[in-house]
Amino acid sequence: MNVPVKSSPDSLLGMPRSELESWFAERGEKPFRARQLMRWIYRRSVLETDKMTDLSLALRESLARCVELALPPVRERQDSADGTVKWLLDMGQGQDVEIVFIPEDQRGTLCVSSQVGCAMDCPFCATGRQGFNRNLSAAEIIGQVILAIRELGGTGEDSPVSNVVFMGMGEPLANLKEVVKACNLLTDDLAFGISRRRVTVSTSGLVPQIRRLADVSNVALAISLHAGSNELRDELVPINRRHPIAELLDACWSYADQTNSKQITFEYIMLDGLNDQPHQARELASLLVGRPAKVNLIPFNPVPGAPYERSPGQTVDAFRKVLMDKGVVTITRRPRGDDIAAACGQLAGNLDNRIRVPLGTKTMHTVHRA
Ligand code: SF4
Repeated sequence: MNVPVKSSPDSLLGMPRSELESWFAERGEKPFRARQLMRWIYRRSVLETDKMTDLSLALRESLARCVELALPPVRERQDSADGTVKWLLDMGQGQDVEIVFIPEDQRGTLCVSSQVGCAMDCPFCATGRQGFNRNLSAAEIIGQVILAIRELGGTGEDSPVSNVVFMGMGEPLANLKEVVKACNLLTDDLAFGISRRRVTVSTSGLVPQIRRLADVSNVALAISLHAGSNELRDELVPINRRHPIAELLDACWSYADQTNSKQITFEYIMLDGLNDQPHQARELASLLVGRPAKVNLIPFNPVPGAPYERSPGQTVDAFRKVLMDKGVVTITRRPRGDDIAAACGQLAGNLDNRIRVPLGTKTMHTVHRA
């Protein structure tokens, strides 16, 4: 292999299979080299070229010279008593993102970030208050998955991560191209081989991008809804002013049709006295009944200084009962990782005072957690 210019670390990690085959072909190597390399990186979680023993010594030496396969450094790891693990990753230039692993009986869910910061400005979210810094590349997104698997002592083939959700920092559909590339690798049998139903893209409601996503992918879709009226949703999820609920739901039902999805998940963070009343449950039910929809009721993590509080358990139960009685499948999420502030955004908020939050205000991000 003759490579005159050293490739950047990101150019192979996260590269789609067809592009990787072309990359090798351009360098006089057979396309099957791409599959061999993918097996090492994604199935065996090995990034060190000297350990890729089914490649010829000459190829290994050549790869070692011309590519770097690097993961972002871990700035901090926190382990919760309930098994939840959170990492703060250094993405360079003083920018951090978070990932959270949530183990459950039948699955292990990894919550990944798609952007550093976010431009969507949801008022209860630390990431939103931080503002937008930059999009992450597919390599940086996929790097989060490999890092978590390695940190948890697994490999791509024997992975503790069964589900990946784009519910960390950022609005994934504002970074559609790189997120789709990452989703394609997550579901590619030669890469992670995760079922498309176990890869979830969660959006605050970018309608044109939902329609574009349906043309290029068929992963699971989740919507950060949080209110059944435009008046309240305009406040909680400001993108609603541009794409109101009826327009958003229309795009959701089209997505379900076009991708043959069994259901769209609607995330609903329960805010005491604000969106948790029985009439609001009836309003929400009227939007979703008879549709391919499931509701996740998410306990809000109380944040000192923020104008929102967690709804009491009985209120959440009553809200759920209204939805269930109306025929809307509804699940109440258990709070996880409370002791390590595992709502995405909290750790970065605690460590990083560059954010636009008044000093002394603790930050949080809950909206993109399933
Ligand atoms: S809740 Fe999600 S979309 Fe809204 S500001 Fe936070 S990261 Fe962005």
